[in-house]
Amino acid sequence: MATTHNLGFPRIGARRELKFALEAYWKGELCRDDLLGVASDLRRRHWQDQAGLDLVPVGDFSLYDQVLDMSATLGNLPERVHGFHGDPLDNIFRVARGRSAPASGEHAECCGGVAAGEMTKWFDTNYHYIVPEFSASTRFALDATRLLSQLVEARSQGLRAKPVIIGPVTYLALGKAKDGSDKLALLERLLPVYADLLEALAAEGVAWVQVDEPILVTELGTEWRRAFTTAYDRLRSARVKLLVASYFGPLQENAPLAAGLPVAGLHVDAVNDRDGVLDLLNMLDASKVLSLGVVNGRNIWKTDLTAVLDWLEPLAARLGERLWIAPSCSLLHVPVDLDSEQRLDREIASWLAFARQKLGEVAVLATALNRGREAVRSELEANRAAITARRDSPRVSNPAVKAALAGITAEQSRRRSPYAVRAARQAAWLKLPAFPTTTIGSFPQTAEVRQVRSQFKTGKIGQADYRRAIEKEIARCVREQEALGLDVLVHGEAERNDMVEYFGEQLEGYAFSQFGWVQSYGSRCVKPPILFGDIRRPKAMTVDWITYAQSLTDKPMKGMLTGPVTLLNWSFVRDDQPRSVSCRQLALAMREEVLDLERAGVRVIQIDEAALREGLPLRRAQWQEYLDWAVGAFRLTANGVADETQIHTHMCYSNFNDIMAAIADMDADVITIETSRSDMELLDAFDDFRYPNEIGPGVYDIHSPNIPSVEHIAALLRKAAERIPPERLWVNPDCGLKTRQWSEVIPALTAMVAAARMLRAAMA
Ligand code: GLN
Ligand code: ZN
Repeated sequence: MATTHNLGFPRIGARRELKFALEAYWKGELCRDDLLGVASDLRRRHWQDQAGLDLVPVGDFSLYDQVLDMSATLGNLPERVHGFHGDPLDNIFRVARGRSAPASGEHAECCGGVAAGEMTKWFDTNYHYIVPEFSASTRFALDATRLLSQLVEARSQGLRAKPVIIGPVTYLALGKAKDGSDKLALLERLLPVYADLLEALAAEGVAWVQVDEPILVTELGTEWRRAFTTAYDRLRSARVKLLVASYFGPLQENAPLAAGLPVAGLHVDAVNDRDGVLDLLNMLDASKVLSLGVVNGRNIWKTDLTAVLDWLEPLAARLGERLWIAPSCSLLHVPVDLDSEQRLDREIASWLAFARQKLGEVAVLATALNRGREAVRSELEANRAAITARRDSPRVSNPAVKAALAGITAEQSRRRSPYAVRAARQAAWLKLPAFPTTTIGSFPQTAEVRQVRSQFKTGKIGQADYRRAIEKEIARCVREQEALGLDVLVHGEAERNDMVEYFGEQLEGYAFSQFGWVQSYGSRCVKPPILFGDIRRPKAMTVDWITYAQSLTDKPMKGMLTGPVTLLNWSFVRDDQPRSVSCRQLALAMREEVLDLERAGVRVIQIDEAALREGLPLRRAQWQEYLDWAVGAFRLTANGVADETQIHTHMCYSNFNDIMAAIADMDADVITIETSRSDMELLDAFDDFRYPNEIGPGVYDIHSPNIPSVEHIAALLRKAAERIPPERLWVNPDCGLKTRQWSEVIPALTAMVAAARMLRAAMA
């Protein structure tokens, strides 16, 4: 008999109930008990959804972040939140976001804000966790209240509970030693607390504990491999059984290490690495449970159940009771419930599975294994029909797109002349001053702008009114930029709700869910569009708005597009062809847009690749392959233009020292990047690698409401000019201004323009 379980469930709620409750609590509009009530209702509902499983996860729920919760469990919240009054919950929020609910009365003074913890991406997902902080003097102390109370809650609902914790090695690996000390030296201090935690769970009669160690799917140095052995040797005497869970990819060279750990079971991602699973099986001691993640927890497609069974049945015969099945990873990374969708295209919906549906698939697989396929015949038939329908649908496959892809030539990805020649031709008509100023694309998205878009979307206003309203906003942006004295202008992106959705909605091959929210961090969610078919651009998407903007000014207007790699990385993408192929299709569509803009007289074009870096695979060994096709897609999009046309790109990160060569290889004429918060740390990259083209390191931190001073910006620029030849330096903010107020943007950009003028004067 195969055992079924789940590694984690989305906690935000099918209607984002948790988001709204949290935000109300932070504003002081909802009391603590009501917030906790919403949370426990959500847990109850989510456990009900999982009640058909043999074991349900407990402790995967979090009010903010599971890594931060683990820090609290281990008594490792940063020093700076010690000594506050009130509920421990508020300290969690202080670490997460710098502040909790507004303190009142006698504590209004003492219980204010602190520096928020650093946030970073959870492996290669779009989920962000709060980085644990360490120093040489870090001490740990167990606080199991959260986990134990949720355990009681689950059991009172009649469930067989499997507590979920983050394993000691992954916990250390994900954290940061603030004093530069060796994190691994803390392992000896950490393990007794883990032992106490396991003992506390054993005392509650818990049978199995899921210990997440996803770091096992990355390349591990010798010390980290040794840490695994040390840690699990120490925990082997626990009175609970440990299921060490790896996910987000195959174990590869870490398989012997994982298989050899003295634990009762191992969970592995079995979606893409079937050979690896067979190898692992041969390494695994005959007493151990092998949990196979056979339903993809990262995408939204139905599983081909028959294909899985064909593979799984012989394994089940071999493993017997030792086989467990589950989704590949926590379902945190998919939306909750497909049944909520009312407006999603019916045909496409029939190909999809969200969290609840994925658990249904696990149940069908288990029944087929335990009682024979006959017992779930109709389910298997329906699944088969859906899989075939998707494969054969004319909406998925477009022969014209395939032909266009086959017809791509190497020339199409090469600019006609090298950068130096292009730069001279561009300078001849652009006639820009030294230290030219520009912005990254969006201007403040005011309440009126959002309202106009939503009225248009819901049919409350017609096309003509909508156009008039957006044009009015564009005119305002142009006027303000002229008054500010910026050199290269933008139209402001008032028509865009989101830089991916805007293009996705106009491209064939994309679908949109209504409630397909996935947690990004804390109360923030994203609703990734669904890329289901071959991508085609029926008509120009941005040309009208940009040419309208250009018609209002003699200054150069910069056309604004999202690049193919970012469109790909911020969507749910099809699993029936390699990501690289989908990316090339997107590149071809965006290339047409670039060429249409150029034909319409737009001669400065920015192609945003905000998400290029975050698409890097978890294993460094695979980086080059990704960079090759990602950079290739950008080049295909951008490089069909004349020498005189200036291509910009923009990226939202400062940490690209290790991929500098690939970025240079994109061959954009100008690249703008986020840097101001890190005090131009990025520039270190230029010590080892000379970026050959023009570059605009962001000098205004748009993530903060603070207005930078002229002197501050000038100092940043001077610093940049030490490493980058001044004639190749641009002056711009870190990122788009859509989240800021006009009242912040105007003084900040005024200071930016003044700083650029100061440097020009100094150079003259
Ligand atoms: N052009 C986009 C904007 O300004 C870029 C956003 C981004 O890089 N995330 O909003
Ligand atoms: Zn950005």
